[in-house]
Amino acid sequence: MDKFREECGVFGIFGHPEAANMTYLGLYALQHRGQESAGIAASDGVQIRVSRAMGYVADAFDSDKLAHLPGRIAIGHVRYSTAGESQLANAQPILIDCAHGQIAIGHNGNLVNASELREELVQQGSIFQASTDTEVVLHLYARSKAPTVEDAVVESISQVRGAFSFLLLTKDRLIAARDPHGFLPLALGRLDDAFVVCSETCAMDLIGATYVRDIEPGEVLVITGDGLRSIKPFAPAHLAHCVFEHVYFARPDSYVFGKSVNEVRTNLGRILAREQRVDADVVVPVPDSGVCAAMGYADEAGIPLRMGLIRNHYVGRTFIQPQASIRHFGVKVKLNPVRSILEGRRVVLVDDSLVRGTTSRKIVRMVRAAGAKEVHVRISCPPTISPCFYGVDTPRRSELIAATHTVEEIKKYLQADSVAYLSLDGLMAAVGSGGSSYCSSCYTGQYPVEFPRDEKIYLQLALKLDKEAVRG
Ligand code: SF4
Repeated sequence: MDKFREECGVFGIFGHPEAANMTYLGLYALQHRGQESAGIAASDGVQIRVSRAMGYVADAFDSDKLAHLPGRIAIGHVRYSTAGESQLANAQPILIDCAHGQIAIGHNGNLVNASELREELVQQGSIFQASTDTEVVLHLYARSKAPTVEDAVVESISQVRGAFSFLLLTKDRLIAARDPHGFLPLALGRLDDAFVVCSETCAMDLIGATYVRDIEPGEVLVITGDGLRSIKPFAPAHLAHCVFEHVYFARPDSYVFGKSVNEVRTNLGRILAREQRVDADVVVPVPDSGVCAAMGYADEAGIPLRMGLIRNHYVGRTFIQPQASIRHFGVKVKLNPVRSILEGRRVVLVDDSLVRGTTSRKIVRMVRAAGAKEVHVRISCPPTISPCFYGVDTPRRSELIAATHTVEEIKKYLQADSVAYLSLDGLMAAVGSGGSSYCSSCYTGQYPVEFPRDEKIYLQLALKLDKEAVRG
């Protein structure tokens, strides 16, 4: 499907006799945040062991692999990557042994000065195994002359900039760190005497843990047998929570940035209905991600909600396409229209976002082919006009349909009767507090973290419009 892709999810647990098993379950609940690879590192107090594999969590581990990860502390990671980088060497957690002892790391986010730091480290003789920016942190850690593990961790992560929610595992402690802007979520919970840290609270729900609080932006939380120790090593920075977590990434049953995703997402639909109401017979969500906003839209507009598109949940990554060409096969295999709901009706089609527009065009055609009289597309976020540099995989600006087309042009491209987006003010009203604590760069082109020299060039290139790229 034509969506932004989340890069990663992390889960960690301290003080549980089945730490690796709990981490497996936690990763299972976070699978939506990354499907390319999965990994778990566990410590028995003497040694850290790691297991990583390509694919879904359920395929990457079996009971035998988990049995080889003994210990009461563990961290886990699920990763999404772009095709070229999809290889086991980039899977996480990454485990190294250095002067400070063994350490494993899992990272959600993207470091904007990673290539600059990497270049310097290579010049000084460092050898890199993978192409992820996360490895830079481990090199900085290994080179640190700081007297304690905590000091070395703080020294290394103080040198990186951008978006990071890190989990680090040493043989006797779990360390969680979140960047000072708080781009990506990271929550702390309890499971009996154990501590849990994870990207989204839905992972706590699965194992029966209770949410305690978020790891604060700029906080380094050290969990040992003596309890919690919070360090605040960074200068205060303005908050920039990724608003896309609420729009699309996070599961609706999670709380992120202290708010229920379901509540925010339903509100996006309500506000959208107030701003962009249209006379229609039925509201149809593009499943699954458009469902909450469609419910809000239908409620507010007083138009019945119907599941006019059914999603097949069992399409795996390795689905084999038939050799005979079937028109729009890729979309059809995932979504099927319900003719009895759509035929002869004026339909409001609600989706959470519109990136390239290619899939939406096929869906609009599919709904029309099923007999809809009118198709009105409503998007529960503002036009996506700029790429993300903070850990989310986005197409180049030239490929973002809203960056290169007017709403009228998008309507023509999608072959819809009307197209309308939620306003930026509407989005900010839905997330609360005027949205001042949120990053919305992909809607505004304003970036809260300045880029170092080479990213600056990249940014200029990315922002250069290439109007021809998405036409036709
Ligand atoms: S640019 Fe968009 S996707 Fe990236 S962190 Fe900001 S809000 Fe999230």
